[in-house]
Amino acid sequence: MERRKSEALFAEALKYIPGGVNSPVRAFRAVGGTPFFASRANGSKIYDVDGNEYIDYVGTWGPAILGHANQKIIDAVKAAAENGTSFGVPNPLEVRMAKLICEAIPSVKKIRMCNSGTEACMSAIRLARGFTKREKIIKFEGCYHGHADFLLVKAGSGALTFGHPDSAGVPAAFSEHTIVLPFNDEDSVRAAFKANPDKIAAVILEPVPGNAGVYLPKPGYLEFLRKITKENGALLIFDEVMTGFRLGFSGAQGRFGIEPDLTCFGKIIGGGLPVGAFGGRAEIMDCLAPLGPVYQAGTLSGNPLAMSAGIAALEQLLDGAVYKKLEQLGAMLEEGLRNAAAKAKIDVCVNRCGSMICSYFTKGPVHNLTDAMKSDRNRFAKFFHAMLDEGVFIAPSQFEAGFISAAHSEEDIKKTISAAEKALKKI
Ligand SMILES: *Cc1c(COP(=O)(O)O)cnc(C)c1O
Repeated sequence: MERRKSEALFAEALKYIPGGVNSPVRAFRAVGGTPFFASRANGSKIYDVDGNEYIDYVGTWGPAILGHANQKIIDAVKAAAENGTSFGVPNPLEVRMAKLICEAIPSVKKIRMCNSGTEACMSAIRLARGFTKREKIIKFEGCYHGHADFLLVKAGSGALTFGHPDSAGVPAAFSEHTIVLPFNDEDSVRAAFKANPDKIAAVILEPVPGNAGVYLPKPGYLEFLRKITKENGALLIFDEVMTGFRLGFSGAQGRFGIEPDLTCFGKIIGGGLPVGAFGGRAEIMDCLAPLGPVYQAGTLSGNPLAMSAGIAALEQLLDGAVYKKLEQLGAMLEEGLRNAAAKAKIDVCVNRCGSMICSYFTKGPVHNLTDAMKSDRNRFAKFFHAMLDEGVFIAPSQFEAGFISAAHSEEDIKKTISAAEKALKKI
């Protein structure tokens, strides 16, 4: 497959943009080669500037649950833009968005919009610290909560791939209140609470971690975290930036029946525009300025274009039909990939939750980051390129989730499985 125009663009990008990209994983460093440049995307497909077509499982890293260039989202954004792109005073769309999310997610009584998942997590932690008047937080290895200084510790894909999980430029003092524990391990959480009585403000986690591949919470694990946080006066924060409105209209918390104190959102709720949000119990949220002492702000927060895109996305998810379809397609892809690997006699552990999926090149099972790290990354890199040449775009790293959208068809899934069969023979 020829990608000359992409290669030329990348060479030029390297002159002006560090690494040629505006977000590191896009550079294909983990798999080698150069990234393709997109000219457009539609439905389940993405097209590069050389005219190649790919079935897309990156889905702009999660937001595109309805597929690319969804007509209702486009219409909503166009209509909003006609009225002005930003106001700096409240607009009615913000109220509609807040109401939609609060009605979808029972644990969220009040919500504040911001501009990225990073901001949402950073602000939720500040709020948790302000509310509890405690400093320490617990996070888990492999969970990514954006690139705020104190959260960039063992933070999954990007950081893992580049071999410096703790970023340069973060003073040790900034992360000294961050306790990092293995996921799915109850004892380590018990020990941390015991060693830090009345000091832990919050436990933050991705309820279904999707930033080091995909692995699921063991049965009872989320319930355990809910219980131990409550007993110790700490807040439970679900980072649902990826899972929110992806694993169901009430997110992972609805799927697993757990009510966290605070929840972070992003990705899907922006319909492909830059957005984040955090919400939860009213008495906690009311600690935010202008009501309370915890400061948080944003020039473009609640931006009318982002709100209208997000509302148009959520309204199409409301009746649940999309989730049924995603579940079916997900099951079909999971089974197909597993069979293809068995046929090729290659150890692959396929993990899936709804429309989030990951094929680890290891025997498995994969329950946490340590398990995930056993994957054969060289083999994954070969698989990635073989798939790309078959016209299937999966994330350019072993430690990322694949996303199925409502625009994917059974035909797409079948093509993907036969592409995988061919690719697995070559690696
Ligand atoms: C993507 C993601 C973030 C960061 O969101 P950005 O919009 O990229 O800042 C945070 N948490 C999780 C779980 C994510 O998947």
